[in-house]
Amino acid sequence: LGGTITRAIQQMSNATIIDEKVLNECLNEINRALLNADVQFQLVRNMQNNIKRIVNIEDLAAGHNKRRIIQQAIFNELCNMLDPGKPAFTPKKGKTSIIMFVGLQGSGKTTTCTKYAYYHQKKGWKPALVCADTFRAGAFDQLKQNATKAKIPFYGSYTESDPVKIAVEGVETFKKENCDLIIVDTSGRHKQEAALFEEMRQVSEATKPDLIVFVMDSSIGQAAFDQAQAFKQSVPVGAVIVTKMDGHAKGGGALSAVAATKSPVIFIGTGEHMDEFEVFDVKPFVSRLLGMGDWSGFMDKIHEVVPKDQQPELLQKLSEGNFTLRIMYEQFQHILKMGPIGQVFSMLPGFSSSELMPKGQEKESQAKIKRYMTMMDSMTNEGKSCKLDSSNPKIMNDSRIMRIARGSGRHVREVMEMLEEYKRLAKIWSKMKGLKIPTRGDMNMR
Ligand code: GDP
Ligand code: MG
Repeated sequence: LGGTITRAIQQMSNATIIDEKVLNECLNEINRALLNADVQFQLVRNMQNNIKRIVNIEDLAAGHNKRRIIQQAIFNELCNMLDPGKPAFTPKKGKTSIIMFVGLQGSGKTTTCTKYAYYHQKKGWKPALVCADTFRAGAFDQLKQNATKAKIPFYGSYTESDPVKIAVEGVETFKKENCDLIIVDTSGRHKQEAALFEEMRQVSEATKPDLIVFVMDSSIGQAAFDQAQAFKQSVPVGAVIVTKMDGHAKGGGALSAVAATKSPVIFIGTGEHMDEFEVFDVKPFVSRLLGMGDWSGFMDKIHEVVPKDQQPELLQKLSEGNFTLRIMYEQFQHILKMGPIGQVFSMLPGFSSSELMPKGQEKESQAKIKRYMTMMDSMTNEGKSCKLDSSNPKIMNDSRIMRIARGSGRHVREVMEMLEEYKRLAKIWSKMKGLKIPTRGDMNMR
């Protein structure tokens, strides 16, 4: 897809005269590419019309920043399409919120419920899980297993067949226990859709959730719009989570889900594990959708702000894909200084959507990063500085973790948290392995 778009824009810029016909040809090619990424036909057409309205053919003909103008227009338009205009309900820590998850069977609801709970638990919330899927055999066992692993309280039954009854009992139980996030997992049965939607309506009416999250598998392709719309028509969906973004799908269905539910995407699922869950970030998502390489803006920025003599080393490290604790340490230093490279790294999906530096919590985040660094210092002081350069997590056995905790005066839990953060970033970093580093010339859009 990226190739196609780049080619389309390239062709256009090669044409000596940019007229309506050339612009149309270019847009048609981009449309084909977006359709391939599962963006719905109607949405593609809307976008095309909007682009035509925005991009002034006269400006293009005059030869100013042609490629950049069009690429920017498309990028912005896709970002706008992912913004329904109002934010999703955000639960407040310490106040009880009920969140109901809906979606077809296999979309990833049960997994996502646990990820959502775990994500909040790590931030000090008190979540709880309720299994209101009485349809699928083994549904309760699956939730129970997930919840037990994450040490999250759960509620469900092997014998009760009424989902509404269980949902209500579960919610009441956890309200009494002052949980601040009560998450209701539901059934997603196939082939009995009328019954499913009626069931969702009943569970929703009985539990009165503060937010209903529609969970969508990114690989369902063009079916996304109808599926999202069907759920929205039976219950007031207020947010979307797109799962399986670690697969091949580019996730164009997310645009359909937003359009059909008029709700924003709040998280994406990037793997089967509990911590493979990211706050949704529009720009990297659209970059991926356009196949612009998640790193195109990032590379631009590197060339722009990283001193020339430091570029090769940084790019080399990136293409090796070997993320060591030392690299993390160095990046933390940059982030703390908020120097140029700090800015650059804040553009990386992992570093930006990570909770390293959320807006309004800069102070807390700085303190956290400093804590992490103290722990890493203690590893160095242990006389094993070489270990910081290893990207092999096996070196971290329990006794080492305990030594690091003692040496830095921190809790074992905090050392583990730091290592989790490291693993998360290492995973993102590894995606850049083998990245063909574009030269300044390739990246120059002017
Ligand atoms: P449910 O039927 O909607 O409750 O879906 P499940 O939570 O049972 O998930 C169905 C399958 O998708 C399971 O095998 C999950 O491990 C898998 N799954 C869920 N989310 C993700 C994800 O983000 N990435 C990948 N690769 N697999 C996922
Ligand atoms: Mg399930």
